[in-house]
Amino acid sequence: MGLVRPVDLKVQPVPYQVRYEVLQKIVKTLERFESASGDTGRRAVEMEASVARKSGSGQSYRFNASVLLRDLLKTKGKLPQESAAGGRVKRVGTTIKLTRSDAMRLLEGAVVDEAILAENGYNTGKLEREVEDLQLSSAGHKYTSCIRCNTKFDRLQIMSPATCRFHVQRKRYNRDTREGEYACCGETTSSTSFLALGCKTLPHHVFRSETFDAMSQISPFKSTADIQGDANVLALDCEMAFTSLGYELIRLTVVDFFTSKLVFDEIVRPFGEVIDLNSEFSGVHAIEDHKSITFAEMLTQVLSKSMINGNSILIGHGMENDLNVLRLIHRKVIDTAILYPRGKFKSSLKDLAFEVVSKRIQSGEHDSSEDAIATMCVLKAKLEIPLSQTIWD
Ligand SMILES: [Zn+2]
Ligand SMILES: [Zn+2]
Repeated sequence: MGLVRPVDLKVQPVPYQVRYEVLQKIVKTLERFESASGDTGRRAVEMEASVARKSGSGQSYRFNASVLLRDLLKTKGKLPQESAAGGRVKRVGTTIKLTRSDAMRLLEGAVVDEAILAENGYNTGKLEREVEDLQLSSAGHKYTSCIRCNTKFDRLQIMSPATCRFHVQRKRYNRDTREGEYACCGETTSSTSFLALGCKTLPHHVFRSETFDAMSQISPFKSTADIQGDANVLALDCEMAFTSLGYELIRLTVVDFFTSKLVFDEIVRPFGEVIDLNSEFSGVHAIEDHKSITFAEMLTQVLSKSMINGNSILIGHGMENDLNVLRLIHRKVIDTAILYPRGKFKSSLKDLAFEVVSKRIQSGEHDSSEDAIATMCVLKAKLEIPLSQTIWD
């Protein structure tokens, strides 16, 4: 069969060369299942064009193309007569086992573009470093607002006793009473009770550095690009605590995508003095020396040929938070908060897991491996990878 070329479109979501390559992949896939006829090329061109027309960005083009290729494999090259509406392929009755390379191709297609990572708060190593908005006074104070109670305080005096009164959870709008309500204790925003100021009191205010520059001062960012190793796929989940130095990693959990096995789970000692372990969310109640490792030890164990390396695909939900506390710059990322956008707010993993895979999580304390596994399930559902498949050829 002669070479086929993508049809011209006024707006191209990706460079022509990328469309050309995708088209050749579609042709190859079709040829696996049918003896090449004049029709194969025409169908492939139409399929590619339909993907290009419905994709508003390079990101969605690559994603839609990988979904199409996967669907073609599943249906052995027969899309339900290319439903003109571009609708989804009908569910095939039997569960089809994917090969590892099929799954890898789908995952590669869901890897987030670097520019989108940067927009979502990931350190791509290329951003201008902004200067942190700190009010430095001549007397050597570093004033900042407490992110819990909004009181202005001197960061250099963070360990001196203070009164920080706050609500553990955000307020939500209650449609019945038509007012704001705190999920933690049920206090309403109109309440005149003393408790309306907050249901928890701690002796210190807290802050969180937002710039990569400020984060680097505690521990520098490290790029995984030069770490050689296997093209593995890992789901990450971190727990963080407030310390005298800000917001720091206290636990890292890593789960292997293909086997769902826990490959790393350690409590990590922060650099600063602990103010609040966020136990109700983090599930970490104490950091004991003999049951924890240092940040440097964590990096040595985790950055390796067989674990996190330059070729790894890392999966997480709102993973900019995780990678930033790990101080990692990593290129191949799949973020379920980006794959499932919810208007201007990020979707919560709890809601997503329930909506997408009917999984109830975080009913009590957060459990890192539960979160990592829920994230993987959400992603598998999106890519239509069988949830329970743990053996791959
Ligand atoms: Zn409260
Ligand atoms: Zn405070």
